[in-house]
Amino acid sequence: MTTIAFIGLGNMGGPMAANLVKAGHRVVGFDVVEASRAAAAGEGVEVAASAADAVREAEVILTMLPAGKHVLSVWAEILPAASPGTLVVDSSTIDVESARRAHAMAAERGCLSLDAPVSGGVGGAKAATLTFMCGGSTDAFARAEPILARMGKRVIHCGEAGNGQAAKICNNMILGISMIGVCEAFVLAERLGLSHQALFDVASTSSGQCWSLTSYCPVPGPVPASPANNGYRPGFASALMWKDLKLAQEAAASAGAATPLGAAAAQIYALHNALGEGGADFSAIINLIRGRDLGDGV
Ligand code: NAD
Repeated sequence: MTTIAFIGLGNMGGPMAANLVKAGHRVVGFDVVEASRAAAAGEGVEVAASAADAVREAEVILTMLPAGKHVLSVWAEILPAASPGTLVVDSSTIDVESARRAHAMAAERGCLSLDAPVSGGVGGAKAATLTFMCGGSTDAFARAEPILARMGKRVIHCGEAGNGQAAKICNNMILGISMIGVCEAFVLAERLGLSHQALFDVASTSSGQCWSLTSYCPVPGPVPASPANNGYRPGFASALMWKDLKLAQEAAASAGAATPLGAAAAQIYALHNALGEGGADFSAIINLIRGRDLGDGV
């Protein structure tokens, strides 16, 4: 049994902490929101009075927070309370620069650190089937791997500090671009009188095959479990896709990489969000591409 501190018990962190309890670990948690603290307590998490209090006896600390500024401020608060040698893991999706600053703060305190963002969404967090993309030293990865494996099915070491975040935003840039491409193909097929099923049958077994088509097919029918069959809810929120595409654009600007389709995808998702569709699954972008009424007169 390891004593694990878990800071940020929201949609993702709550079920992830619960899975660590189920795996037999002692989990001490904290969140600024009372409802999240209460839900975690119901899952067997010991709730602390503050983030600093949560980490005092921890051998491993996990954070699962909205953005880079939250991670930097929470790490600034908890590192002085953590014992040197503690392993600190951030699983939030944040900008590469903030991730690298957080690693430097941990090193100053004599702590091991890992950036370990996830894919798999709330469903994956509940089912312990997340994929962790990890950046940090081999020592940090070796210590984190057995803990992360209790919350996910794949734990991949992507290289040095920040490379987990780099892998996450590169992957999600592919996802955002590919979903828009798949949606454009279905809309073109509609205009040409080609059925959704016929396009799916061809493209899913041809060179157009991709995850956006075969797992999150943006039209109802061909993939019964895709969010399109359920009014585009739940799924991977369009607002989170926009967040990840913006992070990819920030990283591309600072690294001097040309990502013209990533930039276009970020703008298309910005428009979708501006139309009030941020809560819908990201495959609902097909409605914007059709140029049809989104249900509220737009
Ligand atoms: P969320 O908003 O549900 O959870 C974040 C939690 O952090 C909230 O409960 C909030 O109260 C808490 N928090 C904020 N500031 C805090 C502080 N100073 N101290 C303690 N707690 C604090 O968000 P989420 O959906 O759980 O996502 C968390 C992270 O995971 C984000 O970076 C997100 O981009 C990423 N992510 C989310 C999904 C998803 O499908 N929801 C998928 C992959 C990655």
